Amino acid sequence: MKKLIVLAICTALYTSFVIFSLHKPSSVVSDDHMTDVGKLMPVKVKQVVKETELTSIKEVIEEAKREDLKVSIAGKRHSMGGHTYYHDSVVLDMTGYNKVLDFDKEKKTITVQSGITWDDIQQYINKHGLAIQVMQSQNIFTVGGSISVNAHGRDIRKGSLISTVNSFRLLTADGEIPTVSRKQNEELFYLALGGYGLFGVILDVELQLMDDELYEMTTEKLDYTEYSDYFREKVLDNQQAKMHLARISTAPDSFLTEMYVTNYELASEEGPLQEHDELRKERMTGISKFALGMARNFDWAKDVFWEIQKQYFLKANGDLISRNNVMRSESKFLEYEAENDNDVLQEYFVPVDKFTDYIDDLRDVLTAEELNLLNITVRYVNHEEGPVLSYSDEEMFALVLLINQGLSKKEQKKTGEIVRKMIDVTLTHGGRYYLPYMPYPTKEQMKRTYPRSEEFFEKKKQYDPDERFTNFFYEEYKQ
Ligand SMILES: Cc1cc2nc3c(=O)[nH]c(=O)nc-3n(C[C@H](O)[C@H](O)[C@H](O)COP(=O)(O)OP(=O)(O)OC[C@H]3O[C@@H](n4cnc5c(N)ncnc54)[C@H](O)[C@@H]3O)c2cc1C
Repeated sequence: MKKLIVLAICTALYTSFVIFSLHKPSSVVSDDHMTDVGKLMPVKVKQVVKETELTSIKEVIEEAKREDLKVSIAGKRHSMGGHTYYHDSVVLDMTGYNKVLDFDKEKKTITVQSGITWDDIQQYINKHGLAIQVMQSQNIFTVGGSISVNAHGRDIRKGSLISTVNSFRLLTADGEIPTVSRKQNEELFYLALGGYGLFGVILDVELQLMDDELYEMTTEKLDYTEYSDYFREKVLDNQQAKMHLARISTAPDSFLTEMYVTNYELASEEGPLQEHDELRKERMTGISKFALGMARNFDWAKDVFWEIQKQYFLKANGDLISRNNVMRSESKFLEYEAENDNDVLQEYFVPVDKFTDYIDDLRDVLTAEELNLLNITVRYVNHEEGPVLSYSDEEMFALVLLINQGLSKKEQKKTGEIVRKMIDVTLTHGGRYYLPYMPYPTKEQMKRTYPRSEEFFEKKKQYDPDERFTNFFYEEYKQ
């Protein structure tokens, strides 16, 4: 009888989670109220406009100028700190501006409108045997939104997204449309790339592609103290290894000690890419969503969730997978709609050789605090000097933390205090934090993390003296 009741409860929960999975989270609360996927800062905006043509986008900026209105630019709104809106601003939703404009198979280049998603591009280029060089792990984001944060992903050889952007056109506050690249308007290139929509509207973008490749997946279990050496010797020095992702446990039984790492090495057999290059659709959404849902609420379920994830990857040892499919990681199970709480992200970069000491100190902070930490993935980013707001001045591991937190002011205050402590620890180890998330860090922490931030904000005033393009991130951190 008892078993039956447990089974019935589990089935009911499972069904409700599956039903939730069918709902797309909306970041437009109502016509004039907006928030983003973080849902922590809803405000009234003047209007959300979704344009599909360049002439209408230009008109939006001209009208805003005439009426002295602020403009915020939005892609898929997966940044979480009000980066895509501002109170009483006109929000320019770019997701309708999403066509492929040009494609050169020989040169391996594609020119796209910036509201296109990575998924759209993959659908277009996969049949030509080509792949994206650098993007996030998931393919749900727009190109414009990804360029504006200078995204990074599982590739360990190509650097961050900036290295794959040949050029773009930028609609600036004065209505001009310069072409921006390493050779033309170079200064704007390094400001707008990682510029959080503050230097103008990125219109069309030429991206450098590469051949799709076939990889063999290998997954191993490690202790966190072995990770830095393992990564240098077995991954970085192994030229066959092209992509990499690791996880460190947030489950109580193995908290911040156990890891498993997945490497994607060029498959030795030649030719069978075609047998593996059909683009994958999301699988396992219901089960993953259920396991994550339980982990939000129970510590024992965090242990179960960790075991399920680990076994899933260990079981895939030796599987062959195309590059395009590695870059289509599951994302639907992360969608979460609840009235009083939400899942948010934090990301910290730490020098490769400091990883062990860093984790020890992070564990000390987290053991003393109450933070509902659900997952940490680890990626690698290499030295990237170009962007003015560069997050990586040496070889770094990037730790992405998935945190469940309450939406109330009290809960935000509590999470904010813990985040600031984690950032202090990160800075102590020569690390940095990533900017697309909640504005919990202090201005001082922002300045320490991004030594060129003063220059960034000065240039913003120079290129856009009326601060036409604005958002809450800018409001919070400008000098
Ligand atoms: C589940 C999840 C997983 C993630 N994984 C990764 C990851 O693996 N690696 C990583 O680097 N990041 C990751 N991120 C962060 C993500 O890359 C950024 O939030 C990115 O900006 C999302 O793209 P978007 O289309 O939603 O942009 P939005 O959030 O809509 O916009 C982000 C910024 O870009 C600006 N912008 C958007 N379009 C334009 C345009 N056309 N012209 C000028 N400015 C524009 C906006 O004003 C805003 O400041 C992740 C986020 C989530 C929620």
